[in-house]
Amino acid sequence: MIQTEAKQRTTVATAGKAIDGFSGKAIEKDEARQYQFVKPSEKWDTTAHSATVAKAHPWPLIPLAISGNAYALYSLGVAGVNGTLDMTKVLLVLVIMFFFIDIISGLLHLVLDNPHFLHTPGLTKLAEGFQQHHTNTNLIIKMRLQDHLRPMCTPIVAVIAIGGVYHGFANQSFCAFVLGMSGGVCWMQCAHRWSHMLTEKERGPVISRLQRMGLALPPHVHLKHHTPPYMHTFCIMSGVFNPALNWVVASHPFLNPHCKVWLPIFLTSLVSAIICIPMI
Ligand SMILES: [Zn+2]
Ligand SMILES: [Zn+2]
Repeated sequence: MIQTEAKQRTTVATAGKAIDGFSGKAIEKDEARQYQFVKPSEKWDTTAHSATVAKAHPWPLIPLAISGNAYALYSLGVAGVNGTLDMTKVLLVLVIMFFFIDIISGLLHLVLDNPHFLHTPGLTKLAEGFQQHHTNTNLIIKMRLQDHLRPMCTPIVAVIAIGGVYHGFANQSFCAFVLGMSGGVCWMQCAHRWSHMLTEKERGPVISRLQRMGLALPPHVHLKHHTPPYMHTFCIMSGVFNPALNWVVASHPFLNPHCKVWLPIFLTSLVSAIICIPMI
């Protein structure tokens, strides 16, 4: 089935007849051809993929990310013991982070699905990974869970370093932000992986229940995204913001998913969140 998908994708790409799911307009021939880097499913070696992930995200990032979260938890614990813990503020930040991660997952996905970023320094490998996933949809469930989660250490460490210097590492709201962000991005990775397990038998009753409760992305929602040319339904954690983001990307040609404007929108949203959310 995957091979058929790959064949279909290549046919669409070489014919230059990919159609924008929203506007109904044909994607330009050159743009469609950029998908041709996609490697067929049978060429994937999960062991080689593990080595690639390990090289891109060196092991010291793992203890650094865990230490940052342990320190955030410790700081909140100390505040609790001292009677200075503002539990309302901490819970509010955690709830905000649950929703924020879904939004930012959609914005990042919009950037990395854009064929125009396949040749942008710093984004090429990430964009290839996201766009490869459109065709090789089974790799995400074949790869080891730790290889799927390990890349999250890099943004976790970067956000802890930047936000900690700005807000102070022991700031209660920032500690809640760190825990919410770290838990959120790992949950996002799991939710995306589970959404590719198409039968309830594969997912198990707990994950299926979480998906029905709206806490994890349901497969039938994510499958809407996996339709060439992949122009909508970008949020991959709970998917709660998909209807809103779908409306936005369809609202004006300037906001089309293949416009480069989504990179500054993503970066501005991320930096604003790091600065503003821990100020609560
Ligand atoms: Zn995609
Ligand atoms: Zn997917």
